[in-house]
Amino acid sequence: MAQLHFHWSDHKGRGSEHAFNGRTYSMEMHIVHFNKKYDNISESMHHKDGLAVIGVMFEITRKENPHLDAIIEGVRAVKIEGTEDFHSSPQFRQNPIQPTIRLENLLPNDLTLFFRYKGSLTTPPCYEAVTWLVFHDTTDIGLKQIQSFRELMNSEKVVMSDTFRQLQALNERRVEASRRLSDPMTGAATHVDRNHLLTHLSLIVSSLLIITKY
Ligand SMILES: [Zn+2]
Repeated sequence: MAQLHFHWSDHKGRGSEHAFNGRTYSMEMHIVHFNKKYDNISESMHHKDGLAVIGVMFEITRKENPHLDAIIEGVRAVKIEGTEDFHSSPQFRQNPIQPTIRLENLLPNDLTLFFRYKGSLTTPPCYEAVTWLVFHDTTDIGLKQIQSFRELMNSEKVVMSDTFRQLQALNERRVEASRRLSDPMTGAATHVDRNHLLTHLSLIVSSLLIITKY
């Protein structure tokens, strides 16, 4: 795994980069992996099989999601882009042991339904180097927690809202589903190759488990 990051908006129900039947979500998390056959992420971006990104949608709930606590603490310590000072933050001084984030706790409960397609990075240079794997089930984020993201400012001290790329045309892409849906994605082909996809998914999930142990 190379990194994970989030896309959000200051409007409820907007902020995700993927949509299911036209419906978008308040936040989307991307867990970015690069292919080990390349030296680093910058090199892997130039290859069609360079990157695998897992997408997880978040829905706002009244209750906070305790699994996000460590991330929210980090977000609150940033405030302005490029000025993060987590090590001198009161939270860090009180508790200098860095909290561990278990990535599998940030994944949705139902991992059986997900979509896969070959696509691109959603930020420039938008290279077509990504195998996307997007879960249909969502994860929760508390209203106060997403508020911390919505208060983040860029280096010009302008609030960063709408940190997502607009939906792109499907073009000739084939979107695969891990299992049949009663309500399929509009416009998406539903070629189902369940065993292959599940193997692919379990490999990714087990690599997450391994990574988060260290
Ligand atoms: Zn992203």
